[in-house]
Amino acid sequence: MQWLFDHDGRRYLDLVGGVVTVSVGHCHPKVTAALHEQIDTLWHTTNVYRHPKIYDYVEKLVSKFSGDLKVVYLVNSGSEANDLAMILAKAYTGNSDIISLQRSYHGYSSTIMGLNATQSYRMPIPVPSGMHHAMVPDPFRGIWGGCRDSISQVPNSCNCPGDCITSDKYVHQLSELLDNSVPSGRLAAFFAESIQGVNGVVQFPKGYIKKAYELIKKHGGLYVADEVQTGFGRTGDSFWGFQNHGVQPDIVTLAKGIGNGFPLAAVVTTKEIAAAHNKSYFNTFGGNPMAATVGKAVLEVIEEEELQQNCKETGKYFLEQLMELQKIHPVIGDVRGKGLMIGLDLVEPGTKQALNMADSSVIQEMVKDLGVLLAYGGKLYNVVTIKPPMCINKNDVDYAISVLDQVFDFYKK
Ligand code: PMP
Repeated sequence: MQWLFDHDGRRYLDLVGGVVTVSVGHCHPKVTAALHEQIDTLWHTTNVYRHPKIYDYVEKLVSKFSGDLKVVYLVNSGSEANDLAMILAKAYTGNSDIISLQRSYHGYSSTIMGLNATQSYRMPIPVPSGMHHAMVPDPFRGIWGGCRDSISQVPNSCNCPGDCITSDKYVHQLSELLDNSVPSGRLAAFFAESIQGVNGVVQFPKGYIKKAYELIKKHGGLYVADEVQTGFGRTGDSFWGFQNHGVQPDIVTLAKGIGNGFPLAAVVTTKEIAAAHNKSYFNTFGGNPMAATVGKAVLEVIEEEELQQNCKETGKYFLEQLMELQKIHPVIGDVRGKGLMIGLDLVEPGTKQALNMADSSVIQEMVKDLGVLLAYGGKLYNVVTIKPPMCINKNDVDYAISVLDQVFDFYKK
């Protein structure tokens, strides 16, 4: 179910999905039934005595990965998952330094906040030592432009047939960072999202992630793919966002959509990396029988209802309709995204200047009054983000487009 109802019975098309969390839809009957059954059976044992449901789930989750990614740690949130990923990377490499991309968001703990390479996501703490931020390869707002997937090309950008030539400039900047700021032999890991979520759906120029990955490997670091927003088929073409970049991460972190709203998150890695962290990991609630039951039901629903395919098809349709809307509404500066992870970069009409943050709130309220829920992202809070339950259909898209059309009319100059 992609609709929410208020106390007066008014319905709203939910394009927020509990911040990319309600993956298979609100109150999905299969997930709800599985949870009910587990609630009546057993809530909790801790990982001292593991319930068989946990093994069932982990087996199913691992089947979604290829290669050596076979060890799963179940935790409760994306922040915890990234924190553990950092511990594993440091333990395995014996190194201390971490690189992430500017304006990324990886969670809220005293350590992980250092990865959040923008003041507004990190306040009030300074960057802890040993944490470095590479320039974000942002084709629309970055200094060098660049092109991305065919469905969401940046107008007037380079539009390269293969890898984007601009990606080399950003990789060069990463290389400079490695040579000049990370003490030699101290790199533990590079953390990156496949598409930046909180930063307003920033898709990197084609080829960037692959080249960055190769560079990081050359410097002895691990590649940590934060799939908290991009995982579980949301980007349509592949089940995991990193597959779209042709890389095989050393560690993958999962949260949000994994539990459809139930507290569940995970870290997936190789036996070799897990072995380097030779103390057994303890997390009281991480993956208790209820969470594991929900996680398994979510994976089954994604398969049974072919939600990845729906993300691909409905997402493409959504992007196409938004691009049509962009032609008549100059307030839409950029339409981007993949599958059902979409961003609309709003601008002062006729310029590339980000629309005022106050306008974002006004638009959000106007759209809500017409029955659609939207969220905002981006460093300047001017990006409408569309990350709905993965079960929305073309009729829902048409409805959302008609509402956006009406609201953006107020911004025609
Ligand atoms: N990584 C990404 C990409 C996220 O978007 C978020 C949450 N917005 C997190 C990690 C942190 O997840 P949580 O809020 O569950 O700690």
